[in-house]
Amino acid sequence: MRTAPTILHLDMDAFFAAAEQAAKPSLRGKAVVVGGLGLRGVVSTASYEARVFGVHSAMPMAQARRLAPNAAYLTPRFTLYKEVSEQVMGLLGKLSPLVEPLSLDEAFVDLEAGGVAADSASARAVGERLRADIRAVTGLTGSVGLAASKMLAKIGSERAKPDGLVLIEPGTERALLGPLSVRTLPGVGPATGDHLRRAGITTVEEIAGAGQDELVRLLGKAHGAALHAMALARDERPVVAERDSKSVSVEDTYDVDIHDRVRVRAELARLADRCVGRLRGAGRSGRTVVIKVRRFDFSTLTRSETLRGPTDDPGVIREAAARLLEAVDTTGGVRLLGVGVTGLADFTQEDLFAQAAGERAEAEAAALAAAGEAVREDEGEARPEPVPEERHWRAGHDVTHLRHGAGWVQGSGVGRVTVRFETPYSEPGRVRTFLVDDPELTLSLPLPLVQRPEESDESDEAEEAEETDQGQEQGQGQGHRQDLESLQVQERDPDRGQASSAPAIRPNSRSGGGSGAAPGPSPAAGPERSSP
Ligand SMILES: [Mg+2]
Repeated sequence: MRTAPTILHLDMDAFFAAAEQAAKPSLRGKAVVVGGLGLRGVVSTASYEARVFGVHSAMPMAQARRLAPNAAYLTPRFTLYKEVSEQVMGLLGKLSPLVEPLSLDEAFVDLEAGGVAADSASARAVGERLRADIRAVTGLTGSVGLAASKMLAKIGSERAKPDGLVLIEPGTERALLGPLSVRTLPGVGPATGDHLRRAGITTVEEIAGAGQDELVRLLGKAHGAALHAMALARDERPVVAERDSKSVSVEDTYDVDIHDRVRVRAELARLADRCVGRLRGAGRSGRTVVIKVRRFDFSTLTRSETLRGPTDDPGVIREAAARLLEAVDTTGGVRLLGVGVTGLADFTQEDLFAQAAGERAEAEAAALAAAGEAVREDEGEARPEPVPEERHWRAGHDVTHLRHGAGWVQGSGVGRVTVRFETPYSEPGRVRTFLVDDPELTLSLPLPLVQRPEESDESDEAEEAEETDQGQEQGQGQGHRQDLESLQVQERDPDRGQASSAPAIRPNSRSGGGSGAAPGPSPAAGPERSSP
């Protein structure tokens, strides 16, 4: 292990919720919950103000609403989060060629490989400068952990939250880890935590004290040995820039065909555990479990099952593999078995839930519309009469009104949509309600959280002229004009493909279509933003 704390872990603070607060002045300092708003939705991120009420990520949304009934509940805006993420990753890329993203808002950076830090003092300076740069470029705060290993760097950033930096001096790791809960260690989820607790092990110190043999007995060879090493603060995992592998798999060929079904099952379970070891070693999770069976006659078949979300849980993968085996006839004997996991994700739990929520959002929006359910917290319960909606006004998403300018959907239901007119650069704005099919209201692209330098002059003009017709014309109102222009451009240019109904120009851009300062939407933004 290296002797200087030159592995940096960055984690943005309450990322999605913080981005929403930066974008929506009326929500700053307030409880904000981002996630799936449907019946089975889960919380992606809660702002620190919402966490006070006990709301946390992965919690069912219904429970969050009971705990914090007055919080603002918003659907995720991945277009914006990805843009901010790219800005953050860009800053990290300036520090080192070895940047390992774990999710949209989290990454390891090897400062030594980048030649920017060689000891504690220089590492701390780089970390503080990075935090300042992130704040300047994105308007958001991130926390930094610095240590001699990935595990400790991540523990450092966790302890630094929010908006802080913690450097763990090499040599102090075991003293720091000792009294901490076993759950602090990577790979210890609720199930493993329970398992260890029943064996009388609740702290990292107790894992170290139990010894490797005991850990292997409790948790299996791969997991037990890895955990014991972590408890001794031994973590040699390198920061890996390339994360392009699409699957992880292991297989064994047997000298003698296996005929005993019980033994086949046992071998498969063993392979599943080995596969999980590889998966975890790469710091990843996967969604599709694959088994491979080569029979006595060399006929080889694969069976796969796609789970509801990515996992690195050995129990889940073992069970999926066992289920798949049930459908395979092995009576003639088996000469090779394999277990693999594909559909690998770099995302942490927080993002996974958000992703699932995003995927579900379309269906949920339809369900909400059908039920006439208000997504705004103070509009009460679901209403029985179905409301046919032509467009999906998802809570939190960006809109532009021809006369009132840029705003965001605060809620919708029973044929109406409530919009708060404010931008990341404005004062908290007013709320207005429209019919859902108001022709003057259109979906628009998220505004950057920090105004770009070339745009800042205009905003001063717009502020000076606020509350006047001219002001709307010059400032917020122009967004819609841009939309119309860009739509016309698109009509003439069918090659723009998927984005056919999405504005191709940033609503806050002043210049005409095609300006370099006004990039079009990313391809991924097209379908999401379309308003049928
Ligand atoms: Mg984070």
